[in-house]
Amino acid sequence: MSRSNALDYLNNPSPQTLGRSPLEWLSRLQRPTVVRVAGRDPSRTRAMATLLHGNEPSGLFAIHRWLLEQHTPEVNLLFLLGGVHPAKIPPVLSLRQVPGGRDLNRCFKEPFEGEEGAIAQAMLAELQTANPECLLDVHNTSGTGPAFAVTITNDAAHQALASLFTDRLIMTDLRLGALMEYSEQEVPTVTIECGGAQDDLAHQLAYEGLVRYASQSDVLSLEKADWNVAVLRNPIRVELAPDATIEYRLTPSGQADLTFPPDIERRNFGIVSPDEPIGWVGQKGLDVLTAISHNRTENMEQVLQIRDGRIYPAQAIKTFMITTNPVIAKSDCLFYAVKATGDPIF
Ligand SMILES: [Zn+2]
Repeated sequence: MSRSNALDYLNNPSPQTLGRSPLEWLSRLQRPTVVRVAGRDPSRTRAMATLLHGNEPSGLFAIHRWLLEQHTPEVNLLFLLGGVHPAKIPPVLSLRQVPGGRDLNRCFKEPFEGEEGAIAQAMLAELQTANPECLLDVHNTSGTGPAFAVTITNDAAHQALASLFTDRLIMTDLRLGALMEYSEQEVPTVTIECGGAQDDLAHQLAYEGLVRYASQSDVLSLEKADWNVAVLRNPIRVELAPDATIEYRLTPSGQADLTFPPDIERRNFGIVSPDEPIGWVGQKGLDVLTAISHNRTENMEQVLQIRDGRIYPAQAIKTFMITTNPVIAKSDCLFYAVKATGDPIF
């Protein structure tokens, strides 16, 4: 069995090893950790990564709870806990990545530079050795909102994996060096966004999905032919200029480049029609926003329009991953959007 210097290993951990709470367990972990649990059918393995972002704990909580219950899974399970370093920095579970470090979920591609690159490379080596029949990567969203899955491949196996957790599947051709691109190795791979990091429902969903993942003999066939998946293809990212300011208020103060109402998160996965205002711009108008698609084209006129200082969709759109966290809104993205039909805007 290969062993990496970047990773620690736990095999069939006992309740004593795990501690009473996920935080106690986290306090004992020193490095990114591989957890192996023997299954009834030892010839097969399923993998689940989580905590690639240190402030997204639903997967860690789910795995801790499930391990503590000492189940025997249907097949071997391989858990990969990626962002142990950022997760442990006080206050625990508050940092996406270590200060000055890279986003681990952008490092699963050559040249594997720096500490995060080495961790990603070691995780990929574990996957190659274990040769799992499928892989999940469990995350939380920064805002609140319903769960969804993300994939680069939209076939029955990927839909079946997503259906263990959610009925919303986002298909993207964008390649960022994310772990879900392991799908290209002919291993069905899905990212699960469980909902908000602070949301008990998200933790519960991660746990219930893991129970299904561990206990079903087949997780790659769609059992219910009537599974009503909403597939959203190639969403565009709407980003805010780095020097722009954003506020969340019922009416604009006049000081900010962009104002969203405080309840903007209710727009997550809803359809917004062209006559519904979603916010306000300041003096700079739409220049503070960019719309980026998977093939890097930019055409804001097809996404948003301004009338009387108010922002309207240029056509009926479906928006998601809207956040009311101004730090995330500025550092990551404001929201994603597709046409109301689920098709790409461009
Ligand atoms: Zn994440």
